[in-house]
Amino acid sequence: MQRTKIKEILYSDKLDYECVVKGWVRSFRNNQFIAVNDGSCLDSLQIVVDSNNTDKDILDHITAGASVSARGIIKASLGKGQKVELIADSLEVLGRCDPDHYPLQLKNRPSLEYLREHAHLRMRTHVFGAIFRVRHSLAFAVHEFFHKKGFVYLNTPIITASDAEGAGEMFQVTTLDLNNVPRKEDGSVDYSEDFFGRSTNLTVSGQLEGELGALALGEIYTFGPTFRAENSNTTRHLAEFWMIEPEMAFYDLAENAQLAQEFIQYVIQYVLDHNRADLEFLDQRLAEEEKQKPQNERSEFSLLEKLRMVTANSFEKITYTEAIDILLKSKPYQKKQFKYDVSWGTDLQSEHERYLVEKHFKKPVIVTDYPKEIKSFYMRLNDDEKTVAAMDILAPGIGEIVGGSQREERLDVLESRMQEMNVPVEEMSWFLDTRRFGTVPHAGFGLGFERLVLFATGMTNIRDVIPFPRTPKSANF
Ligand code: ATP
Ligand code: MN
Repeated sequence: MQRTKIKEILYSDKLDYECVVKGWVRSFRNNQFIAVNDGSCLDSLQIVVDSNNTDKDILDHITAGASVSARGIIKASLGKGQKVELIADSLEVLGRCDPDHYPLQLKNRPSLEYLREHAHLRMRTHVFGAIFRVRHSLAFAVHEFFHKKGFVYLNTPIITASDAEGAGEMFQVTTLDLNNVPRKEDGSVDYSEDFFGRSTNLTVSGQLEGELGALALGEIYTFGPTFRAENSNTTRHLAEFWMIEPEMAFYDLAENAQLAQEFIQYVIQYVLDHNRADLEFLDQRLAEEEKQKPQNERSEFSLLEKLRMVTANSFEKITYTEAIDILLKSKPYQKKQFKYDVSWGTDLQSEHERYLVEKHFKKPVIVTDYPKEIKSFYMRLNDDEKTVAAMDILAPGIGEIVGGSQREERLDVLESRMQEMNVPVEEMSWFLDTRRFGTVPHAGFGLGFERLVLFATGMTNIRDVIPFPRTPKSANF
């Protein structure tokens, strides 16, 4: 008999049928009630065993973490807390789990830090089960959103030779023997002997290749791994993360911002519709975490309220210049409570972004038209020649979640911007070909997938929303 997933059993009104259930024991009470979870949903199924007619050897090995298979009849439950239960006719222990050594065998709920150190097992807990089911739904919704709009899913290279975003943050890829590096006469490394015959890196963004796709296919998106060797140990940065990068021909900045808003609202609505139980559990978790904080640091809104706020309201749109004005007039600025200074021309720091979103507007904010000096060379120069057509989207609790722009489509302007910013024009000739041959206005953005998962789950550390986080000095499992 094929196994039935617990989700199917719990989310159906059917009764009095035979089935086989397999999963891992969460708890065993009164030598009679086993809570079994198979990962298909948050809740466990109660399996009722007749201990008088069950082998003692089996009963002795029903411990938290053990895997079991049970066959029986689904009946309406007499007890409180569940609608149905499985009355077992037969029960088998598939894999024992020694309670003295099982890392999740804890009296108290394990802390997130403890679970991070046991990331190979943490997916078995309620909280990580919920997070990774939500993560899956978000990924599915990303593809569904773009597919419905007729975008082409384009896979850009993971190993690249282009150094567009600025060096220093990239992981080098090489097969050279580091103990015996071939050198040229002048002493520099001879990359002609390396695997690709040149020096290569892991990609920091698929954007430039994405532009090539958009200027042929019209509208494309990428959804793939990105790597940044930035040595910043924050709760919002990973060395390996997933990024979604749509790129659209014939879009201007306003259309780009409109798409980004629609996109975020769509994927959040998707999880509200499809991951109700997981989100309610995460909402509770966040509420408990908030209770530990002093009153003045607590969030005004619950997780579910925050998610509904995003789907129900259009985002606030302001220019960088307006953002600076608001910050200069703000209480924390006047009371010197910001750690970093505010002045036109410098980048907004996380504390500034969070003030705008959480205190001032109380909803996601799209900031546009940044000073050209603090943004990338490919962003379109505005008529004022001081600012570029950039946009960042700031989300409550997260800060920057999206970075995007209208791209500079004018060859001469782009070339002079590249020279100004010391980007090697020669090496980027392939990129400039899009501007030489049938250039068009176009735009795009990048959304860090883990920042989106952070927002949707109400978690606060980015290490908790990717199954196997990679951060400085840490690449376990
Ligand atoms: P930040 O200022 O937060 O470092 P950034 O300006 O470097 O972001 P972009 O280069 O615009 O970010 O990348 C696009 C998106 O990728 C960001 O909006 C963010 O959501 C995400 N992102 C950037 N760096 C990381 C990282 N190290 N880990 C996870 N997500 C990231
Ligand atoms: Mn960064």
